[in-house]
Amino acid sequence: TGAEEFWATARRHLIRYSGSDFTPAVIERAAGSEVFDSDGRAILDFTSGQMSALLGHSHPAVVEAVTRSIATLDHLSSWMLSRPVVDLAAALSATLPDPLDKVLLLSTGGESNEAAIRMAKLHTGGHEIVAFDQSYHGVTHASGAATFSVSRTGYGPVAPGNIAIPTPNAYRPLLTRDGEHDWRAELDHAFTMVDRQSVGSLAAFIAEPILSTGGVIEPPPGYFAALKRKCEERGMLLILDEAQTGLCRTGDWYAFQRDGVVPDILTLSKTLGAGLPVSAVITNEEVERRCHDRGYYFVTTHVSDPLAAAVGLAVVTALAENDFDRVARDRGERLRRGLLELRSRHEHIGDVRGRGLLQGIELVTDRADKHPAERLGAAVTAACFDLGLHLNIVQFPGSGSVLRMAPPLTITDAELDRGLDILDQALTTAAR
Ligand code: PMP
Repeated sequence: TGAEEFWATARRHLIRYSGSDFTPAVIERAAGSEVFDSDGRAILDFTSGQMSALLGHSHPAVVEAVTRSIATLDHLSSWMLSRPVVDLAAALSATLPDPLDKVLLLSTGGESNEAAIRMAKLHTGGHEIVAFDQSYHGVTHASGAATFSVSRTGYGPVAPGNIAIPTPNAYRPLLTRDGEHDWRAELDHAFTMVDRQSVGSLAAFIAEPILSTGGVIEPPPGYFAALKRKCEERGMLLILDEAQTGLCRTGDWYAFQRDGVVPDILTLSKTLGAGLPVSAVITNEEVERRCHDRGYYFVTTHVSDPLAAAVGLAVVTALAENDFDRVARDRGERLRRGLLELRSRHEHIGDVRGRGLLQGIELVTDRADKHPAERLGAAVTAACFDLGLHLNIVQFPGSGSVLRMAPPLTITDAELDRGLDILDQALTTAAR
């Protein structure tokens, strides 16, 4: 059959880029919140592609931007500027608090973090980068070195001076006081350890405001303000990576706004291209100027690419015109209510967490001892897929097994409810 031949050719010619199996379907088409396989079966896409298709698949504004730009202004020398680039830089700045108004446009998330880390090093003169121990920032050299949620084994030395601190996790706290998560004590202790390990060359802390691949973990309110103070005391910059949380997904334009903390450098990627490779590094005038004075170099083939910028501009414009921050808040509330309702009936759901349209449920074999239900997670995602719902599982040995959801902001109430119904059925079947 066609599918057998497809998989035989795939097995013969593709390099496998992770230990996980591919989803067993040949995807032929994607539209809105759904993808369609070769039998024409619709599968609800609760991951927005790779957490990226923020406006749904093939949103008219993105299609228009791509077709217009590819026909008229496709790609330029890295030293030539065009209007979409300058317009996107200005549009992004307009969505951000002062003093974040200097923008570098690139292609991917790893690359944007690479560029941000280079900036932090040049600005501070240091080289040590601190991150959470369940972080994900990419697979390139410096961003991969700051990524502690996937295996680092087998590639020789990582960038020197990378230090991890425990991820503050209210569901699995390391320290408690009067039964409450004592995140302040955790943070103080973590920085005692950072100071002890540091060779006196701290450059930056890089963090996701909500750790997504790490298990949809949201540090407690006040955490980032305290973290920023720790950075300031040491002359380190705070880099926030909003690859997944940026641009309305969590119900605010940026997740960091909830904490009232402005990062020194912000990186955006996945959601900025809404499915296409567009990323940005955003900083303030002081960092930009000092880096430039010290010879900052981050020229890539696709830096300031007009096509990518046209897409980013279409995305930011669509978000602003349709109040998608409010939309994400409302639809996120509906999703969250549904998940909490499922929790009331399914004993394996230990925790429901996240913000806006980035939600996760942690599966446990037992609510009292919170033992991670790792096999159950795989069984639930497989059962969901059979029933027409795609979602992710993110899990680490000993930390938890989390079903992650981040549907497009354009998802309808009916689609959200259908996804919740499928999840309900899948939890029932898989737990048997
Ligand atoms: N940062 C975060 C928070 C991410 O989730 C990812 C991708 N999962 C990246 C960076 C890396 O982005 P890319 O894969 O586009 O390099």
